Amino acid sequence: MSTLRFYALRDAVNRQPIETHESTRRSDQFRKQVFDLDKMTRHLTQDAVQATENAIVKGKKIDRAIADQIAVAMKEWAIGLGATHYTHWFQPLTGSTAEKHDAFFDINSRGDSLERFEGGQLVQQEPDASSFPHGGIRNTFEARGYTAWDPSSPAFIYGTTLCIPTIFVSYTGEALDHKTPLLRALQAVDQAATDVARYFDKNVSKVNATLGWEQEYFLIDKALAASRPDIMMAGRTLLGHASAKGQQLDDHYFGSIPTRVLNYMKDLESECMLLGIPVKTRHNEVAPNQFELAPIFEEANLAVDHNSLIMDVMDKVADRHHFKVLFHEKPFKGINGSGKHNNWSLATDTGINLLSPGTTPMKNLQFLTFFVNTIMAVNRYEELIRASVASAGNDHRLGANEAPPAIISVFIGSQLTEVLNELEKVTEGKLSPKEKTDLKLNVVGKIPEILLDNTDRNRTSPFAFTGNKFELRAVGSSANCALPMTVLNAIVARQLIDFKKEVDQLIDQQGLKKDDAIFNVLREYITASKRIRFEGDGYGDPWREEAAKRKLSNHVSTPDALMASTSTAAIDLYEGLHILNQVELKARQEIQFEEYALRLQIEGRVLGDVARNHVIPTAVQYQNVLIENVEGLKSIFPDSYEEIGAQQIKLIRSISGHIAKIHSNIDEMVEERKQANGLDDGFSRATAYCRNVRPLLVDIRYHCDKLELLVDDEIWPLTKYRELLFTK
Ligand code: ADP
Ligand code: MG
Repeated sequence: MSTLRFYALRDAVNRQPIETHESTRRSDQFRKQVFDLDKMTRHLTQDAVQATENAIVKGKKIDRAIADQIAVAMKEWAIGLGATHYTHWFQPLTGSTAEKHDAFFDINSRGDSLERFEGGQLVQQEPDASSFPHGGIRNTFEARGYTAWDPSSPAFIYGTTLCIPTIFVSYTGEALDHKTPLLRALQAVDQAATDVARYFDKNVSKVNATLGWEQEYFLIDKALAASRPDIMMAGRTLLGHASAKGQQLDDHYFGSIPTRVLNYMKDLESECMLLGIPVKTRHNEVAPNQFELAPIFEEANLAVDHNSLIMDVMDKVADRHHFKVLFHEKPFKGINGSGKHNNWSLATDTGINLLSPGTTPMKNLQFLTFFVNTIMAVNRYEELIRASVASAGNDHRLGANEAPPAIISVFIGSQLTEVLNELEKVTEGKLSPKEKTDLKLNVVGKIPEILLDNTDRNRTSPFAFTGNKFELRAVGSSANCALPMTVLNAIVARQLIDFKKEVDQLIDQQGLKKDDAIFNVLREYITASKRIRFEGDGYGDPWREEAAKRKLSNHVSTPDALMASTSTAAIDLYEGLHILNQVELKARQEIQFEEYALRLQIEGRVLGDVARNHVIPTAVQYQNVLIENVEGLKSIFPDSYEEIGAQQIKLIRSISGHIAKIHSNIDEMVEERKQANGLDDGFSRATAYCRNVRPLLVDIRYHCDKLELLVDDEIWPLTKYRELLFTK
């Protein structure tokens, strides 16, 4: 009997839900462990609070004396809540978060012990960062990295550690993390959107990008997960035959949440409240054991930090409940994968959502301006959006018969399509008073009513307008949202800057009135961006063919998709907005090629090991039983055993056939990996893994899965799909 699998199953089946103590009034708990402005006001002088506010809102530097004050107050507050250590908390290009804890405890020159934490330690640290990915930057410049405080994301206590959100850069200034370019892109979009918003309201002085992510994930019993080397090492199953029942009955989606899972969610949500992560919804997803969690949206930088933090919290809380969280985009073949929809909009400091239609025609012209410019930005830079969501895991979703497709398009619904069609007919140059009145009454003025009953939903679109925000659905569940958010905000910033230039030109040079000029430019954009708009079914060949005619990209694999991230257009965009320079872009791309190749290398090694050392020995063991059986039959029925044992003999043959194929495929895969590893540029290596190694993973799996169906269940060593997916 295969002991590990059955012990794991016994453990899983016998689990009792872990009790949780949930306080009913969440608002009492909210941000208890966050050093937010409210706590600053209580612990700091007015000057220090003002300086922090200026840093948050205007990006102003905080001087050293004030930083010392803030540090001391932060330390006292943290120690009061049981913190013993502090860390700079950052997001290196590994995709996870990094921290290095230092104790507050110190000894002064007289030998007395004390708790120390000063401005210097708050503002800057120098983690030994030599093992973080840098894509050649630090080798080239022989510089070390340092982390610097980001006052716009408040410090928080996690466990017994005070965590200070920081950026991570090299001494020569190159960004080595996800946060640095994100902050720069947010600053660019703030500036550009503020300038455009001021056409409509002079009181606007800041625009924040907002982000509400929806995190999908699977929960698997910890013991079952531990029984599968592929889940432990690669985060997904590399083999496993489909279970008889999967998601075909749709009986999991929005169904009642199992108690063990519900307790996990409650526990997780309590932690989130303390950490200031405003989680709001929880529900079952489509696939068995798949769930989703979504917060109330926040300013994008904070929302990105909160998503990174929550992924870590989810892992830790899961452990308490004997679960393992799977963030992989495709943990199970034949079962829905996981994504992370990024709901995005722009909000002014006067409290207006710029993608929400208003109550007057003028406010709706503002809405249309931001709406059309966003579509235009996506049209110009669709390949950059595609590149921003590319990863080995996400390749299993995008373009692999799962929503959304790898072709980036924008869905806006039939009613807004009509509005844009009307606007496209606007006269060139100055509009007549009658045309303007007509437009205001019948087109622009009607938008709020339209949206009220806008029930249009298109689940296959990668970028959909959903009433008062756009929803980027192509982001993978394991991704850091910073990258797609950097791209989206950067391209919209670029687009708004160009828009304003064109409108101002029409006003200054052709003497058009402001709204005439805006209508004129929007009309041009609506025509120019038509190819990116698609309302139909994103699955299947018809759209692929149509998209090719429209010259939209369709990169189904990560290496191809990533090429766009260093195109001339990308470099111009990033350098023009001072987000990243060419060296940094190349370094990042190199890191991504490398990560892609490494992930496939790990998958290849794990599958090779499991197939050769777990699957084949089991198959041989079972084959021997069959051989013994046939030999027994032969001794009793020497003349007719071939007929009586026909099925067994067939099985013996077929097992040998699969074993032979697995062996030869593994040999071939090892050879292909060697070849790939020998290539010295990142793109060629990643491409070799993609073209030559990945198909072999599929072949090896095919034969292993066939064997799973043939071999005695009692001795099969790997926990099966039905056990992983339906044990609650
Ligand atoms: P659904 O898209 O499933 O219908 P909702 O419309 O309630 O659900 O919103 C989904 C997500 O969109 C939530 O995480 C929410 O916080 C976020 N969201 C709502 N409004 C905005 C906005 N203005 N900016 C960014 N995210 C938003
Ligand atoms: Mg959604």
